[in-house]
Amino acid sequence: MAWSSPPAQGPLADALAQLAATVEHLGYDDGMHQMLATARREMQVSVPLRRDDGSVHVYSGYRVQHNFSRGPAKGGLRFAANVDLDEIRALAMWMTWKCALVDVPYGGAKGGVAIEPRDHSVGELERVTRRYTSEIAPIIGPEVDIPAPDIGTDEQTMAWMMDTYSALVGHTVQGVVTGKPVGLGGSRGRATATSRGVAHIALLALAAHGFEPEGTTAAVQGFGKVGHDAARFLAAAGVIVRAVSDVDGAVYARDGLDIARLSAHAERTGSVAGFPGAEPLDPADLLTLDVDVLVPAAIEGVLTADNAERVQARFVVEGANGPTTKDADAILLQRDVVVVPDILANAGGVIVSYFEWVQAHQAYQWSEREVNDRLEERLTTAWHDVVEYAGAHALTYRQAATALAVRRVTEAHRQRGLYP
Ligand code: GLU
Repeated sequence: MAWSSPPAQGPLADALAQLAATVEHLGYDDGMHQMLATARREMQVSVPLRRDDGSVHVYSGYRVQHNFSRGPAKGGLRFAANVDLDEIRALAMWMTWKCALVDVPYGGAKGGVAIEPRDHSVGELERVTRRYTSEIAPIIGPEVDIPAPDIGTDEQTMAWMMDTYSALVGHTVQGVVTGKPVGLGGSRGRATATSRGVAHIALLALAAHGFEPEGTTAAVQGFGKVGHDAARFLAAAGVIVRAVSDVDGAVYARDGLDIARLSAHAERTGSVAGFPGAEPLDPADLLTLDVDVLVPAAIEGVLTADNAERVQARFVVEGANGPTTKDADAILLQRDVVVVPDILANAGGVIVSYFEWVQAHQAYQWSEREVNDRLEERLTTAWHDVVEYAGAHALTYRQAATALAVRRVTEAHRQRGLYP
């Protein structure tokens, strides 16, 4: 293989193993495998920050553009202390498959800065965002690569990115990022799109396996951009959400958490921990609770060979990107746990990012109803595509979703041809 030695463990190892199995299933040659396994472009930048106390610290930043075959690259920007290039490479590859699976006209990308946002003031985060944006400005743009929020970033981060990019090119460019505030050309429904999609796909999966939402039990890991509203939407559909966690703790209520009251508590105190309407829980135990549906909606690599044997859920619906390692995936398969993969379950975010980009091009804002209807329609189509392909080829949902996506990317690549 042409790429330098891939890691043995971690998200990139998992992503490459999924791809290798898919390439084998589809019967592609080594050249195509290399095209699909390697990023078209990677940029590594230093991001110097003048801190509020006057000192200077330099952070590492990355933008990886995995693929452009179906359109501009697309994917989030992550601020987290442990971000590294291999993680961003994996996340960029997953974005390519996600966009292809839900048939939005994008390739895949991801960015990151190795910074812990909780340790910084708003002013420092603004300066880091603006400097990072100016460093990667030569390789982003509405027709090139369109960042969006991810872990540790939000609509304010996107507003700063749009403003910095616009200042550099001399005019306002709304389509350079998605996940912006609605007043700045953001889309109605974008903030809740990922979680709406997670809940929608979870309910489709339950129905396909003969489960009614009422009385079904769930646990949600993560109470941020994805987990919070996923818990809310699931509860609204009648699912008993027994446990949720965040970085500071976890809470459990056998008869179901009152998500509205829990949200108010988390809003007030900064964490779900200490919620008076529930018992405290060790966050690690959330993954192995006696529930029907487990929604890992925090970070990658949480379901591993060490805990997958103890997962009691019948369904794992991946709100996060890459929460299940390849070893855990094999164990869950052998134990008949239905895993609904990230590139399907959490694709609602990038679908509505696509709608936001379309609205920016049209300079016209859609109603929330229109956004949500179109979101659910696209996810439902992707769900049926995956179920049908999995059935026809005796594959898991992850294998089927990856195969459909890789096939679409490869078809586009073949139709365009190799330049020169
Ligand atoms: N960060 C989100 C994801 O992982 C959204 C990406 C986007 O909207 O471009 O899917």
